[in-house]
Order: sequence, then C-alpha cells, then structure tokens
Amino acid sequence: MNSVPPLLAQIYAFLVGACIGSFLNVCIVRWPHERSVLRPRSRCPQCGNQLAWFENVPVVSWLALRGRCRCCDEQISVMYPLVELVVALGWLLSVRYFGPSFTAFRVAVFGTVLLGVAMTDVRHYLIPDGFTLFGLGFALVTSVIAFFRGETLVFATPYDALVGACAGAGMIAIVGWLGEVMTKREAMGLGDVTLMAFVGAALGPTRALITVFLGAAIGAVAFAGVVIPIALIRRGHAREQTELALGSPPFETPLVPFGVFLAPAALLTLFWGDALLAWLTRA
Ligand SMILES: [Zn+2]
Repeated sequence: MNSVPPLLAQIYAFLVGACIGSFLNVCIVRWPHERSVLRPRSRCPQCGNQLAWFENVPVVSWLALRGRCRCCDEQISVMYPLVELVVALGWLLSVRYFGPSFTAFRVAVFGTVLLGVAMTDVRHYLIPDGFTLFGLGFALVTSVIAFFRGETLVFATPYDALVGACAGAGMIAIVGWLGEVMTKREAMGLGDVTLMAFVGAALGPTRALITVFLGAAIGAVAFAGVVIPIALIRRGHAREQTELALGSPPFETPLVPFGVFLAPAALLTLFWGDALLAWLTRA
C-alpha cells in the first residue's frame, strides 16, 4: 500500500514531531500571556538575544548549549527539550502503529494538542482557546476528510464528531456545575468545556463520557494521593511558624487543574475506550 520504507517514514515522523514539539513549546509559553506565537522570533527571556537557527534546533541545541543561553548563561528550562522529545516520540509511535497514514497524522496531532493543554493547565491553571479551538476544528474537518477517504479507524465519524462535541461540552459543564454546588466555589473553567468539545469531536459522545469519568478517576487518585497530603504538610508547617497566632490557618482546598487529568484520559480512551466499555457492559 505504501511505497515509503517503514524505517525512513519513522525517522521522518520523529523529525517532523521534533519541529512540531518546538512550535508547541512556543504555544505553551506564549498563549497563556496572550502573545502571538508567530512573531517575534524566539529570544532568551533574560538577555533578549534572538536565537540563531543553530540555537533553535529541537533537542540538539539544548544539549549542545548544556541548557544555558549562549549570551548570558541564563539557564534554559528542561521543559523545552523534553516536550520536543515527547512529541517526536509520539509522532514516531503513531507512524509505527498506524503506518504512514492519515490516521497516524490525526493521532499525532490529537496527542500533541492534548500535551499542550496539560502543560498550560499545570503551569497556569488555564487552557488556551488556541489549543481547544484548533483541536475542535481539526477534529471536525479531518473526520469529514477521513470519511471520504474511507479511513474510519480510531476517530469518530462526522456525525458522531458533531454530537460528541456537544455531548462532551455539555457533560463537563454539568460536572462543573455540580462541583460548584457542592464546594460553593468555581470548580471548573470554560477551558475545560472547550477542551471536552474538542475531545468529544475526536472521540464521539460515548467515549467523551468515558473520558470525563476516567479523568475524574485519575484526578481523584492524584488528588487524594498527592495534592491533599502536600496541602496538609504545608498547613502543619504554617501552624508551626505561627504558634503564637490565634487559631489555626484556614485549610484551603487546592484548586484542581482538571485538564491535566482529562488530557491523558482522552488519549487512553482513544486507544482503549471501546475495550473498557465492552468490559464494563459485559453480560
Ligand atoms: Zn540570554
């Protein structure tokens, strides 16, 4: 079917993925501050030195410069090469499992956008519209293209994509509203709603529902195992420091960046959602 040698296709996918990952870094860093991702060109945030092409090669430049700016010696976050590497490996794996196909391209883009969502949500507690609106448009348009190409693997049909977008957004809005009623504070942002519109368009309504449940489950485990203990330790520490103060410091429930859990849940559901559903509803 394909005349491209598999190994060459995989190397090509890895290199394209590394460049996409490099651009994803720009989106992760700039979109939360509502800055353009197209201009200006990348510079050192410390000394403003505009990066030359050889300082901008994914992964390689960071390693060659040992994680420091060439001009001012400022440390460059390890996030940059890691994101580039993860996206490059994601694109390689997509081509490995789905061949050099349109489906592989869609899976790779889906995973890339979800990584961007998780990164900005964990760093800034927000999900830029750039990711979710692009993802929603991409999912809808490619569902139509795939339909006419006869590639019906993995993703939702055009009809399911439309229904899924509405269902995903609606479900997460209800979950957020319930959370607000129970905790009496804003539990979920609009970013989670647009995220689930995008995920629903890619996966269809049934798997959008699975994603919300799976994301909540992953979130609950992480919340109980990591976030609350850390908050309690901090509270104990604060109490020691204010032993003369009246009363104990108030225990603030930490805000949960739900997108951090929805993003991996969506990716897991893309591959194993149907199997999970079959197992849950087995006779
Ligand atoms: Zn610098």
